[in-house]
Amino acid sequence: MTHILIVEDESRITTFLEKGLQASGYATTPAANSDEATAIALDGQIDLVLLDLGLPGQNGLELLKQLRGQGFQAPVIILTARSGIDDQVAGFELGADDYMTKPFRFEELLVRIRARLRTTVSASEPNAAILTFGDIALNLRTRRVSAGGRPIDLSAREFTLLETFMRHPEQVLSRQHLLDLVWGYDYEPGSNVVYVYVGYLRKKLGSHLIETVRGMGYRLVPTSAAAV
Ligand code: CA
Repeated sequence: MTHILIVEDESRITTFLEKGLQASGYATTPAANSDEATAIALDGQIDLVLLDLGLPGQNGLELLKQLRGQGFQAPVIILTARSGIDDQVAGFELGADDYMTKPFRFEELLVRIRARLRTTVSASEPNAAILTFGDIALNLRTRRVSAGGRPIDLSAREFTLLETFMRHPEQVLSRQHLLDLVWGYDYEPGSNVVYVYVGYLRKKLGSHLIETVRGMGYRLVPTSAAAV
């Protein structure tokens, strides 16, 4: 089972995260300070870390630096109320993989965790492993996609983009929102990657699947509605 270390000193947030993550099939271990976190992380059982920056004693950035310095390689997602660009830059320079500011939507956090793990839903939750929309089926565990029973070959990024659309069917998703969810901070400002990747998905899955909503973003639409 995928094991997530939650480094957080606010018990309210720890409880919220543990509940949500356990319901999504993850094992969790909380740590309220840097010393506890170091001991657990270096024990070798951790697949991903959610890291608060404002901790009592040694702060999250110092902890991150120390862990990476000791060869800890699992993905680290910083989860913090600090939204300053300096903290983000420092976090990435010290080896963080993603950065989310509080308050956050749990669903967004899950998408990012899965993107970082590239393994996704555990065997204890088999039904949640397959997302469907119309005749499209997306298996989160095997990372295979089919349309009308025909296998579709997607790159990792295309897969995550399609997964994001399928988690928000018929909902308009703005370009910025998609960048945040699918690319995290891994893109150039002013980048047209969303446009480009929506184009790839249309090419592979049919041009009507993703509708452009002018000035707003993109929306996954049922084939029948698109045909009207
Ligand atoms: Ca804190």
